[in-house]
Order: sequence, then C-alpha cells, then structure tokens
Amino acid sequence: MSTLTIFNSVPAQKTSFSQESREIPAVLGTDLEVPVKGGQLVTYANLDYAASAPCLEPVSAAVNAALPAYSSVHRGAGYASQLTTARYEQARHTVRAFAGARADDAVIFTRNTTDATNLLARSLPEGTTVVVFDTEHHASLLPWPSAVRLSPPPFPGEAVRQVDSVLSEITGPKLLVVTAASNVTGELWPIAALAHVAHRHGARILVDAAQLVPHRRLNLTALDLDYVAFSGHKLYAPFGAGVLIGRRDWLSDGEPYLKGGGAVKSVTDVTEWHDDAEPRHEAGTPNVLGAIALAAACDALSATGWNVLVREEERLLARLRSGLAAVEGVHELSLWGPDHPRVGIVSFVVDGYSAREVAEALSGEYGIGVRDGKFCAHPFVRHLLGESDGGCEDGTASAVRASIGIGTTEEHVDRLVSALRDLVSR
Ligand code: PLP
Repeated sequence: MSTLTIFNSVPAQKTSFSQESREIPAVLGTDLEVPVKGGQLVTYANLDYAASAPCLEPVSAAVNAALPAYSSVHRGAGYASQLTTARYEQARHTVRAFAGARADDAVIFTRNTTDATNLLARSLPEGTTVVVFDTEHHASLLPWPSAVRLSPPPFPGEAVRQVDSVLSEITGPKLLVVTAASNVTGELWPIAALAHVAHRHGARILVDAAQLVPHRRLNLTALDLDYVAFSGHKLYAPFGAGVLIGRRDWLSDGEPYLKGGGAVKSVTDVTEWHDDAEPRHEAGTPNVLGAIALAAACDALSATGWNVLVREEERLLARLRSGLAAVEGVHELSLWGPDHPRVGIVSFVVDGYSAREVAEALSGEYGIGVRDGKFCAHPFVRHLLGESDGGCEDGTASAVRASIGIGTTEEHVDRLVSALRDLVSR
C-alpha cells in the first residue's frame, strides 16, 4: 500500500471551525487527591493552567490509539512506518487549519514555543532588526542576538504608536515580536493593529500565541500575521511538542536548526540540505506522539466551538476576579486596567505575604495549585510591581498567578477566594 493510500485511510480529521456548540470535553486528573496539613486528602484544585494545562480525554484517546502501531516516520517502507508517517503529516495539516494558516505557510513541529522562537531567531536574514516589548515572556524576549526593547505601553494605542515610530527609523529586514495574550495578566494585545503597522513599514511580525490558543480562536490569515508559535502542553496535550508556523522564505533559506538525518538531500563531500522548511528544520526522529496529541487537542477545541469555550471561561473568570477584588489586601496586576479584555489568567499580590508564602499556604492547607514568581517575564513583573530590581528568592518582587481553563469549576474558584480571605484575616 502506498503512503498516499494509507494517508487516505487515516480517519478524516475535522478541520473546519464552525461555531456549532458541542459539549466541552473532559480533562484527565479531575479526581486527583492531594494531602493537606493535618494529613487529610482533598481533591486538587488545579489553578495553574497557564504553566501547563491538563490533558484532554480525546487527546489521551488519540495517543492511545496511535501507540500500538507507532513506528519510524518518513523513512520506513513497512506498513506501521507508513501509517505513522501519515498520522504525523495529518497532524501537521490539522494544526495548520487550527491556526488558520495560509496554504503555503511552513508548519514546523518543535519542542515548544521557546524552541519555535529560537528556530526563527536562527533563520533571520542577516542584519534583521528585532523589535520587542519588555512585557514579553523570556521565550520571546531572549532568543534574538540583539533587539530594540520597548518599554511597557501605558495603553494599547501607545503600543501601536511606539512600534510605528521605532520601525520608521529602521532600515533593512525587521521583525516585530509580540505576545497575543500576556502570561502574567492575561490581557489581549492588539495584534491585528500591530501587524498592520509592521507591514506598513515593511516589517514582519511573530506572534507568541502560547497563551492565546488555549483560550481563543487564532486565525493567522485573517490577522495577517507572518509567524506564530505555540506549545502543546498549554493546549491540553502532554509535554514535548510545539509549533512554528509562517512564511516559508526565511525558513527555507535559514541555517538548518538541527543538523542530522532527515534534513539533508544528500551527503557526499558536500552536504545538500533540504530547501523545504519542514524537513530542513526537523532533523532526527520527531516527536510523533507529541504532534498527534497537539493535533488531537486542536481538533477537540475546534469541535467544541469557541463560542462555548469562551463563554464558560468568561463566566468563571468574572467570578474569580470579582471574588479576588472583594478580598481586602489582594491586588490584581494589570497593565491596561481592569476592563481590558483578557483570557483566564490573573496575577495578584497579597498585603503582608510574599508570593511564595501565599502559594505554599494555598497548596499545603487548601490543596490549590497556583504559580508564584515572575513567570519567566522578569522585566514585566518588575514593572507591574513598580520595582526596578529584586530577586525572586525572598519573594519581594514576585506575584501569585491563578489560571483557569477546561476542567476548572466554580468550587475551585470559590476555594481560592475563601482561602485568601482566611489568609488575610490571620
Ligand atoms: N510564551 C508565553 C506567553 C508563555 O506563557 C510561555 C510559557 O509559559 C512560553 C512562551 C514558553 O512556552 P514553553 O515553555 O512551552 O516553551
């Protein structure tokens, strides 16, 4: 049987994004019991989705279905190899559709978002100037050999103005790097307006969509973005796979990201590298199960319908934010004010407690998992906390982050709010 025949025999994946509403799929681990002070067990309240989201049941099922027949991809003639190759390439197709990418965009599987931004950094044409805000996650802030760093804009329109001004002064290739949804405040950035102004100055735009895709539909084509990067483990798929999607030319010309088998057409005295962006940058045996998991998550979210997902998240987010606002001594962090649209991520500080003390008490006494620290966005968290410096170690320049998604319940939210009320009243 040819690869093509097998490809056609892989169950067709849903790749359209109708707004039809289906039931929200379940996540694994909702009955996890954890020990708290005093020795009893309580059901875990996972409020740390922005770090890594739990695995969706349909994702687990897709991985289990692929496991018995998995084999090497791209190089084997055996049936299992061809089947696995077909599943891997189907996953690429599904992820492309999920992101609303153009037909000719490259879709390169990576380990995660950090890997994807680093891949693009190595493919930039010589002399490219990168422009990036200080509000970025380190994955988007640090990979560039040098970058023009912009200070956090006091309102969204100022972000566009700053970019307009700085890009007008740069000659040669330029790349604007910006996150779609902040991993610190959840606030949504004006990426369509930023893409527009970038293109007006002949620049390209890379959008870090790591925190957008679990919460909102992404349409790269409609937004006119050049590149997007995101991770499977924040999108309800287990660890290990991410993606870089975008324009082929820089990627086809760029230095192969990994050098080894699969990236070459032939090796004699000279090495002839693949011009195609995908094989060029995906040397070695890829994370096939990771790609299948990522694609299954994309399918499951699309099949549920974004209207359903967003409505449910906004309901719980409003409950969380109003609950926190009602606790004296708890202060939510925000760049653009309480009314700016955001995804289900809230960072806050608690008077009289370090972030570490709060996170440890929430875990040890109430069975609640949150994140504390600077969330790999040190300059931004320092800015929000009004500090020019400060280490994480003593908790002085840190915050607590609660983040929600599929599987979050009212009880989780209420437990957090009531635990904080207990803490501040001590
Ligand atoms: N970008 C944003 C906005 C993030 O929140 C994160 C992870 O927290 C990353 C990039 C990096 O993702 P990964 O650790 O999967 O590479």
